[in-house]
Amino acid sequence: MSLKVYNTLTRQKEDFITITPGHVGMYVCGPTVSGESHLGHARPFITFDIVYRYLMHLGYKVRYVRNITDAGHFEEEGREAEDKISKKALLERLEPMELVQKYTNLYHWAMQQFNNLPPSIEPTATGHIIEQIEMIKKIIADGYAYEANGSVYFDVEKYNEDFAPQGHPYGMLSGRILEDMLETTRELDNQEEKRNKADFALWKNAPPEHIMRWNSPWGEGFPGWHIECSAMSTKYLGAEFDIHGGGMDLQFPHHECEIAQSTVCNHKTPARYWLHNNMITINGRKMGKSYNNVIKLSELFSGDHPALEQAYHPMVIRFFILQTHYRSTLDFSNEALKASEKGLKRLMEAYENLNKLQAAGFAPRAGDTELEAKCVKLVTGFDEFMNDDFNTAKVLANMFELVPVINGIKDKHIATEALSAGFIEKLQAQMKVYVEDVFGLTSINAADNGKLSGVMQLLIDIRKEAKIRKDYVTSDKIRNELAGLGIQLKDEKDGNISYTIN
Ligand code: ZN
Repeated sequence: MSLKVYNTLTRQKEDFITITPGHVGMYVCGPTVSGESHLGHARPFITFDIVYRYLMHLGYKVRYVRNITDAGHFEEEGREAEDKISKKALLERLEPMELVQKYTNLYHWAMQQFNNLPPSIEPTATGHIIEQIEMIKKIIADGYAYEANGSVYFDVEKYNEDFAPQGHPYGMLSGRILEDMLETTRELDNQEEKRNKADFALWKNAPPEHIMRWNSPWGEGFPGWHIECSAMSTKYLGAEFDIHGGGMDLQFPHHECEIAQSTVCNHKTPARYWLHNNMITINGRKMGKSYNNVIKLSELFSGDHPALEQAYHPMVIRFFILQTHYRSTLDFSNEALKASEKGLKRLMEAYENLNKLQAAGFAPRAGDTELEAKCVKLVTGFDEFMNDDFNTAKVLANMFELVPVINGIKDKHIATEALSAGFIEKLQAQMKVYVEDVFGLTSINAADNGKLSGVMQLLIDIRKEAKIRKDYVTSDKIRNELAGLGIQLKDEKDGNISYTIN
C-alpha cells in the first residue's frame, strides 16, 4: 500500500508520486518573527514535522525548507502597508534585527520543546532580498506587474487573462473566482495606487519612518510577504517541487499569490501537492486578539495565562495535536488537554513497560494465535493509517488497544508461554519506530529521563553495597537525602529497589 495525500489543489486524495524517485522537496511557510509563536502556530509546525518524519520513515530523502519571515509584511492584504517588525522594534526599543533574533531564538526553543526536527534549510526573507528583487524584475518584464510611486503590484487581472486558459487561473487553490474578489474587496488605503483591488504588492515603497529598507530599482523599500516564499522555494527546491504545506488560513491570499508569481516566472504551478492543516479553536471560538484568547507557547508551557488551569508539557500539546487528523478542526480546552496528558502518560508507561519486558526465555512454539494475530493487525495498521493522508489519530487508537496487552504481559495476566518466539521483540521494534521516530514522543515523567535513571541506579547500587557491608550510616544517608529531594526509594518483593519522584 502506498502513500495517499489530500491535495488542496484537486480537493481529493491522490497517490503520492514524487518528481524525482526517492526524493521529496517540501516547502512549509514558517513563522513571522515579529512576536512569539502561539498555540495556533503549534499545529502546522507539529503537523509538518510528522509529515517530514513519516516520509523519511518511508525511505525518502527529504529536503525540507521552512522559511523565517523577518522582513515586515502586511498583516492583511489591502490594509495600508504595515511593517510589523519595525513597529514592534520601536515599541520595544530594539534594533529590528535584534527583535528578529530574539523571536527567532524563542521560536527555535519552542520547536525543540515539541521535539520537532529542524528543517534541512531555514532561509530568511532578509537573506534573500536580491532573489526577491530579481523575481519582481522578471514579473515586470513579462508584463504581469507594474510600478506605482516606488511600489510594485502584481497585475492579477492580466495574469488571469493569460494564464487561466492555460490551466492556471488565479484562485485555483482556494476555489475563489476573480470576478467575485474584484467586487468584494473593500476600499482601503493606498488602493488608488493599484489598477485593480485584487492586485497585491510585490514591493513597497518605504515611508521615511520605516526602519527596515533596502535599495531596489524602484527606490528604497521592502518586499511584499508573498514574494519571499516564491523566491526561496524556487531557489532551494526548483521550479516544481513535491509538497507545499501550511495552515489553511494561508490558502488565500498567501499561497494563491505564490502560485501566480511562480507560474509567471517558471511557467509551472510550483508544487504538485498542497497540504493544509486545519485551525485550532479555543473553547469553540476562533483564536484572535479580539477574543483575548491568544495563548503564547511559553504561557502554555508555564500555565501563566488566565485561560489556563495548569501548565502543559510541550509533549502533551504534541500528543493532543496528533490525536486529531490534521485536516479536522481541533478545539483546545483545559479538559481536552488534561485528558491528553493522562493518555500520553498511560501510553508512555506501557511503552516503557514493553521495553523492560525480557523477550528471552519464551517458548519457541506457536503462540496464542488469536491474541498475536490481533496485535499484528493493530501494528500493521500503523503504516496503513499513515498512508491514508497521515492519520495519526487512528494510529494512536491502535496503540491504545495494545496498551492492555503490554500491561497484561508485564503483570503476568498474559502468560509468556502463550506467546511465540520473537513476538515481544517485534512489538518492541515496531512501537519504537512509531513512538520515537515517526511521532517523536518522549516521556513527560522526569524519572524516565535516561541520565537521571542512570544516576539513580548508581545510588541504589551504592546503597545496596553499603547495606551488605552493614554501613547503615551511608545507606540511610542516601535514602534520607533522596527523600529530602522528593525521591522515594521502595523495596520491591523481588529484591529490586524502585523509586518514585514527586
Ligand atoms: Zn509562505
